[in-house]
Amino acid sequence: MAAIRTQRPAWLAGAGLGLAALTWGLVGAPRAAAQDPGAPPVPAPPGAVVLFDGKNLNNWVKRADNQPAGWKVENGSMVGGGGDIVTRDKFQDFMLHVEFMTPDMPNAKGQGKGNSGVYMQGRYEIQVLDSYGKAQPGKGDCGAVYNQSAALVNACKPPLRWQTYDIIYRAPRFTDGKLTAKPHVTVFQNGILIQNNTEIEGVTVSGVSGEDPSTPGPILLQDHGNPVRYRNIWLIELPKQGSDKYE
Ligand code: MG
Repeated sequence: MAAIRTQRPAWLAGAGLGLAALTWGLVGAPRAAAQDPGAPPVPAPPGAVVLFDGKNLNNWVKRADNQPAGWKVENGSMVGGGGDIVTRDKFQDFMLHVEFMTPDMPNAKGQGKGNSGVYMQGRYEIQVLDSYGKAQPGKGDCGAVYNQSAALVNACKPPLRWQTYDIIYRAPRFTDGKLTAKPHVTVFQNGILIQNNTEIEGVTVSGVSGEDPSTPGPILLQDHGNPVRYRNIWLIELPKQGSDKYE
């Protein structure tokens, strides 16, 4: 039996985010934004690898020279500036929780508006950008696997609001040095699914390249020259596979 779907008026058919746009049209985006406090903080659960708890950048170094990370820490968050930073530890499969806030840059446009990024294994970027209100996010917008795969829907909050990424990442697989499965990523932004087991084609622009892709890599946060903030960054490492036993 076919699933019963909520009927939408014919004039909304085909309008991807038609209902949301209609709601916005009625209440007005600025008013909606003012009522939205942003995502509540999600501290690390027991057993997680805490990468940033708001106190210091001891778990991070500069990408360029492995020296202590230079981003400013204030009010429990870190602020982009002074170059990309990477975790000291390296990972393969994981679930990563990241909270971020884009700055208010009303006169900036496109890639210059609240740009940063979260890279898995230092190689593959999930874009961070102020793409708030854009009806159809593109391959350079927030939530994209940068320049490869756009977010399925626009789940962005306005600038100056805390947002969350929950990133489930499966590293590429190799057998005898030969690639047998490309990396895959599932991403929830503010609890909304925006990447659904997306296959990643290869290293994204500005990712760490030239290293053996079968080796673990760091989490990398991009400094794109905009004061994007981060807080509550933690990760749960995942085994590469479960048991093959059946009892
Ligand atoms: Mg970026």
